[in-house]
Amino acid sequence: MNPAAGLLLHVCCGPCMTVVHEALSGEGFTVTGYFYNPNIHPWKERERRLTALSEYASDRGIPLDVDAGYPLEENLRMLLDAENRCSACFRDRLSATAARASQLGIPRFSTTLSVSPYQDQALIRLAGGAAGELHGVEFVYRDFTDLYRESIRLSREAGMYRQPYCGCVFSERDRYLGS
Ligand code: SF4
Repeated sequence: MNPAAGLLLHVCCGPCMTVVHEALSGEGFTVTGYFYNPNIHPWKERERRLTALSEYASDRGIPLDVDAGYPLEENLRMLLDAENRCSACFRDRLSATAARASQLGIPRFSTTLSVSPYQDQALIRLAGGAAGELHGVEFVYRDFTDLYRESIRLSREAGMYRQPYCGCVFSERDRYLGS
């Protein structure tokens, strides 16, 4: 392993991990996954996504660092107070990843959120850049949205659980009731 090529990859879920891990490893980065997603509600859903991801990572020998905390009240308060809920959510998750990379001595970080055409990529890029500056680590951004269909294919092939909504209770409501 080359520590200079290290990259901490914020992972939202197993399906998104498939292609992003493959692409970043293909670029020569030594990738460690990082699961920090207090925005996934409820707890059982978070566990289900984490289990699917852990199995995938373990099968492929991908190191995975998991934040065991679940600050639900804090997360709900943050989302309710935010002017733009998703922007606050990206800032929270990417800032935690940048801080963790700095703590582990990993010089850069990225996120699997970059594969979703349903997420605002401009906001992700902005949040990652600011988080990197704040914690003194480089944010590696790639727009992987063209790999989204491939991530569906690979995750289906692997028999992986695919979640029906983004994560927070608001996105779950919008998924079933419409926004
Ligand atoms: S919809 Fe998704 S990105 Fe937006 S606040 Fe909810 S969990 Fe976060």
